[in-house]
Amino acid sequence: MTQNATDDTSQTVTPICIENDGYITPADKTPSSLGAAPATPSIKPFTIVKRTVLCKDPETVELTCYAPGVAEKSKAGHFITVKAYAPSERLPIPVSDCDPIKKTVTFICSSVTHATNKIVAFAEGQCLSSIVGPLGHAADIKADIGHVVIIAEGVGLGPAQLYAKSIRQLSGNRISAFISAPSRDQLLGESKFAETVDSLSVVITDGGAPKDKDKGLIGEFAEFLHKTLEAPQSYPLVDIVYAMGPHTMLRKVSEITRDYGIRTIGLLSAVTANASMLLGTFRVELYKDLPYLTNIYDKYGLHGSKTPGQMPNISVDEFAKNNINPNFSKTKIDIKYVFVDGPEVDMHRISWERFRLGTSVYSSTAFTADNTRKKGPSMRSVKPAPMQTPMPMQHPKVRCHNWAEISLGYTPEMAMMEASRCLQCKKPMCVKGCPVQVPIPQFIKKITERDFLGAYKIIKTAHSCPSITGRVCPQENQCQSAEGNYGCILCRTGKEPVGIGKLERFVADYVRENNLEDESIKDGKELPEIVLSGYKVAIIGSGPTGLAAARECALAGHHVTIFEALAQPGGVLNYGIPKFRLPKQIVAHEINSVKRLGLVDIKTNTVVGRDITIPQLRNEGYTAIFIGTGVGIPRSLGIPGEDLPGVITANEFLKRCNLEDGCVFPLINRVDSNEPRKKVVVIGCGNVAMDCASSARRLGADVVVVYRRRLQDSPARLEEIESAEAEGVYFATLNSPLEVIPNDDHTGIKGLKCQVNSFEAGTIVPLDGEYSFFACSMVVVAVGFGPNNIIVKTTENLKINDKGLVITDENFESSVPGVFCAGDVQTGAATVIKALGNGKVAGQSMNFWIAQNHVTLPRDNSLFNKVINPAICPPAEKIEKAPQDALSVSSSATSLLLNSDIEETLTTHI
Ligand code: FAD
Ligand code: SF4
Repeated sequence: MTQNATDDTSQTVTPICIENDGYITPADKTPSSLGAAPATPSIKPFTIVKRTVLCKDPETVELTCYAPGVAEKSKAGHFITVKAYAPSERLPIPVSDCDPIKKTVTFICSSVTHATNKIVAFAEGQCLSSIVGPLGHAADIKADIGHVVIIAEGVGLGPAQLYAKSIRQLSGNRISAFISAPSRDQLLGESKFAETVDSLSVVITDGGAPKDKDKGLIGEFAEFLHKTLEAPQSYPLVDIVYAMGPHTMLRKVSEITRDYGIRTIGLLSAVTANASMLLGTFRVELYKDLPYLTNIYDKYGLHGSKTPGQMPNISVDEFAKNNINPNFSKTKIDIKYVFVDGPEVDMHRISWERFRLGTSVYSSTAFTADNTRKKGPSMRSVKPAPMQTPMPMQHPKVRCHNWAEISLGYTPEMAMMEASRCLQCKKPMCVKGCPVQVPIPQFIKKITERDFLGAYKIIKTAHSCPSITGRVCPQENQCQSAEGNYGCILCRTGKEPVGIGKLERFVADYVRENNLEDESIKDGKELPEIVLSGYKVAIIGSGPTGLAAARECALAGHHVTIFEALAQPGGVLNYGIPKFRLPKQIVAHEINSVKRLGLVDIKTNTVVGRDITIPQLRNEGYTAIFIGTGVGIPRSLGIPGEDLPGVITANEFLKRCNLEDGCVFPLINRVDSNEPRKKVVVIGCGNVAMDCASSARRLGADVVVVYRRRLQDSPARLEEIESAEAEGVYFATLNSPLEVIPNDDHTGIKGLKCQVNSFEAGTIVPLDGEYSFFACSMVVVAVGFGPNNIIVKTTENLKINDKGLVITDENFESSVPGVFCAGDVQTGAATVIKALGNGKVAGQSMNFWIAQNHVTLPRDNSLFNKVINPAICPPAEKIEKAPQDALSVSSSATSLLLNSDIEETLTTHI
């Protein structure tokens, strides 16, 4: 595909012909070096040569513009993107006519959003900023199609005209058209239509004839169709139906024509022309191999009972659910992206239920991606859209070959759109579900006001690492839960919850990427000073809980030393959670933000309990001590062969992937290797197993997850299972590992032997004599972790429970006075946010304990009451970005979400 410059800012064929206010630049301002000069020197590209008002409310205009390349190539079905001003949103609009001789293209635009308002406001003689196209696939219009029915409503009349014109030009085609609008005023282009088609039916539901308020517009459509399709004199029988207009009309048409088995094509770009759309995100889900309803009627003996005008009271989705496949969740779905695969779509295969939910994301006409918009009134929709604003992601086929982050994050406009779904509940159930009680509605409100820094400050009152928790928190079980007596209220109304985590991540990323961290603390003043206390505090473990406790103690003026066993700080954030879920630069940024307080030292490669003990720390003058050592000891399966070379624990596997880039895996091919792909078996099906499976995939292996239960019993997050599946990980459920089989010389392994299970009466039952074998060169065991007892053994009176977890009181103080403990080693394996929250409270308890006991505690008087200023936060390190091909996979609309990327992949013919 050629990539010509398309935009108003490029040098070659750029139409530098408007000022930002939209008025024509005087001729003498137009550079003579515009590259390919327009054929008619007096007309500049994108000049509006004709403007016809078709309707006053909402104002709808037909614009004919000078756009040479576009006019020469446009055909029925094509759409163009139109931009009013340089910084405006690009709008996809179907072409309604083109004249290759006059080099003009015509389209209809209705004033329904900020962006369309601007286009509609242009006058004859003014220049639009750009018109890019033609885009999409042209209609496959041939001679001898036979009897074509065109149904169009509202702005759908635009493209319908070009269809009618193109079909009529070819022999053997006859057109019956049915056009409609709610009022005479809105009946766009009726007269033009009458000239092109063989028969034209017109319906106006209000103020014109025929008028039947009971039937309504959709009823009129249904009646017309039934009459046309069933009339014995209908000549010839209908061969194809084209429908263009709002989705309610398309849906009705499709349900009627399905019954007759008549091919029906919908032009979905006409749907999008009714609202401001994020180009590239507009997708439809199509059922694969869905038979026509007729077959189903025959099966159920319903066919004979139907009379003209009586619509079957059953939708395509209901058919798919009840009749096509008893296991509906396995019904195959094709995802099509309207602006990549369309805009024409076979309407009989659309899941209309999903389609309705998807389009209603854009129902807030107040929303626009127009980046001229700054602060403004709250953009909350009157009714929240049922579905979350989708977040762009790398395509699975691309991302399984790289370690860059899977999710690409919201743009400010997407975040504002998602924030506008929040109802601002007076008694927010979301906050009840949050382990650290983030003031959720308050921070979301700031986002709707485009005050992202304000939103960040609000989140930071509850915890310190929103860019981490926004990525890894299991929100679906917490603030966004649909179960229990907490979680976003939208779930209770059948809608998707507000994307609280996605918004939290956006806000934190915005602040980090724009270096606003200091701004968030100082509020326009100097960074607050810290007054030193002269007391020393020891923190054991640099995971999230240790870092949170360290921050609290440092803010209170205590000198903090963090002792960390590994070579790098961060705990599981660094060595456990893979970088494609949590980029390590973000973890480094959070660690830096603790270090820059000026009172925190981190001693790595120091194992407390072996290199130094808690009693020794006491002797060295550490007054209060915190244990945050996590649960790093992997559980084993206890099966034969587990000790063979080639069997590795999840802990070690992820540690090597994260800290040593996986380059030390002789048993797995690198992606660039020419050898056949090696096989890896991951045992277990929790989140850690998912991380292992996806990491092994990125190392170039074929991966099988072996799990003794069913997929629905898995403790892993659904989105992680789906993500791994999409990347090509295979799940072998109902298989219990029995033995790892060695290779012939015991230098490695042949594979894993398993007992096959069945699921009966709610339990797992082994099937007698049924075994499976998974050939592989590596087995990763991911079946859980427990605590290390090295500190317990060397600390007198430190009490633990039967699971080896440290026992504390509600202030996180252990059985040893002055020794505090939180995080996984106190709760058992839990979550990052719990570790952060408990670490923060434990740090505050330590400060309180020191204040209470300060008289008896050793203090460095040379430091007491000294004042220090925290360092300025260093600029954020750049995060590894997804490779370019991840953003241009044509079948991935999510990857096309970024408008700028789309623009580069579009061909233009100006
Ligand atoms: P850790 O993060 O385990 O940190 C403990 C630190 O103490 C380590 O750095 C360790 O080296 C150090 N240490 C241990 N013993 C000693 C010693 N004797 N001396 C000095 N240092 C010592 N939670 C989520 O919320 N979302 C997720 O998506 C998620 N994914 C996960 C993926 C994996 C692979 C794993 C293993 C866990 C995941 N979790 C997730 C759980 C979450 O990471 C933990 O709950 C959290 O990290 C616990 O924090 P912590 O500070 O208590 O312990
Ligand atoms: Fe907003 Fe949902 Fe919280 Fe209500 S419960 S305030 S809708 S996020």
